[in-house]
Amino acid sequence: MNLPSPPVKAAPRQDGGAPPVLSMAPGPADAAEECSKKQKNDDTQSASVDALSSNDGSEEKNDLDTLANAKILLSDCLACDSCMTLEEGARVFQQNQKEFFRVLNLNKKCDTSKHKVLAVSLCPQSLPYFAAKFNLSVNEAAKRLCGFLKSLGVHYVFDTTIAADFSILESQREFVQRYQRRNQEEHALPMFASACPGWIRYAERVLTNLVTSHICTAKSPQQIMGSLVKGYFARQQNLSPDKIFHVVVAPCYDKKLEALREDFYTALYNSAEVDCVLTSGEIVQIMEQKNVSMKDVTEVAVDSLFDDLKEGDVVRHDGKRSDGYLEHIFKHAAKELFGVDVKEITYKALKNKDFQEVTLEKDGETVLRFAAAYGFRNIQNMVLKLKKGKFFYHFVEVLACPGGCLNGKGQAQTEDGKPDRALLAQMEEVYTAIPVRLPETNLHVQRMYQDWLEGMDSKKVQDTLHTTYSAVNQSTSSLDIKW
Ligand code: SF4
Repeated sequence: MNLPSPPVKAAPRQDGGAPPVLSMAPGPADAAEECSKKQKNDDTQSASVDALSSNDGSEEKNDLDTLANAKILLSDCLACDSCMTLEEGARVFQQNQKEFFRVLNLNKKCDTSKHKVLAVSLCPQSLPYFAAKFNLSVNEAAKRLCGFLKSLGVHYVFDTTIAADFSILESQREFVQRYQRRNQEEHALPMFASACPGWIRYAERVLTNLVTSHICTAKSPQQIMGSLVKGYFARQQNLSPDKIFHVVVAPCYDKKLEALREDFYTALYNSAEVDCVLTSGEIVQIMEQKNVSMKDVTEVAVDSLFDDLKEGDVVRHDGKRSDGYLEHIFKHAAKELFGVDVKEITYKALKNKDFQEVTLEKDGETVLRFAAAYGFRNIQNMVLKLKKGKFFYHFVEVLACPGGCLNGKGQAQTEDGKPDRALLAQMEEVYTAIPVRLPETNLHVQRMYQDWLEGMDSKKVQDTLHTTYSAVNQSTSSLDIKW
């Protein structure tokens, strides 16, 4: 049987480093090997990509950008390039259309021992790209994408919104617990969002102990979807996890790296939660290669993880340019901690519209102070505040892409690799028009907490929906690529 290769071993961890101190002068984080992303932005300061804000979104390119046959431009990856190990580089490049078609082709051969159930999960931030690009409603886009993938031989197409429901619910519970422990536990607050792998990569390899203990332990929607497909769904179907090949369609390349993390691999079954990530742009490439137009594809309802049900209309979470962590956690914390019902969130723009603040006042005192920091320029501003001891936020929703996930580098790019502003504006419109569903109101989620996860406070919840983040020593076997 052609089994997937073993997981990438993480680079050695930095154990025993100094404890994280938020008001510290330059310390362990600065001692780590500098990443070129950091240097690039430090050198150019406000010249970093900011497609949806004010500057032109140009990224430096060089002649090493294009790797033959890889179909991935390393500059498309927001993770710091020099931190990728050789193994990771090789395995990221394996996550491409070829691998997807290899599995599809094996399924057509007589040797059934090599057959796999092919499941594809669609990220909600990818759907507006297909809708805007092909002038479809978001529901039509989801169904036609499902029709196209099934015409290739995919067995199941899922929507990852349910995984984001779990991720948000776990993040908001963790925030409340951390807030309640803030006076006893030095590292309880601030809490940083964990859904963006570009940010996580940067945090673990460059900022290291300065921030890792502050990152929310809830897994990202992509990886929770992996647990749902390889755990819950596999069990329903009476399948071993390694008999499912799970593909995620995502807005960025960073999610390919995320799928490779050692923590998201089960040795017992020799199976990763997510076997392959294809960007929205790579799906369009497949359509072009097959001479298929989205307009001509038959609509097929998206599958549900539950019995033979089909998904209804596409829904999204609060938050116009993200998965809605800030808004949901803010409203939940206001209610749980202070008994305040927040109906509408009012953002205050700080340096630009990708660095915004939200506060809750009670009895003349600011009791909650949250921020959204999108794009490396704003992340670096945030880090500067940390190092200067001028950091007053309880929670920060950090996303590596300026403008949020719609602006992921795996979609809506012009041919010369710049964000397609006109398309992005349409995608924002499409995304904003999607009806909002509160994660708390998803009855399937409630049922799964009880039946599958053995209660909200169970060990299984911790094992299935959470992970850990640690400082990583990136000095070993980096790709020999200079930017
Ligand atoms: S912000 Fe960008 S890098 Fe981060 S998850 Fe979203 S698309 Fe990917």
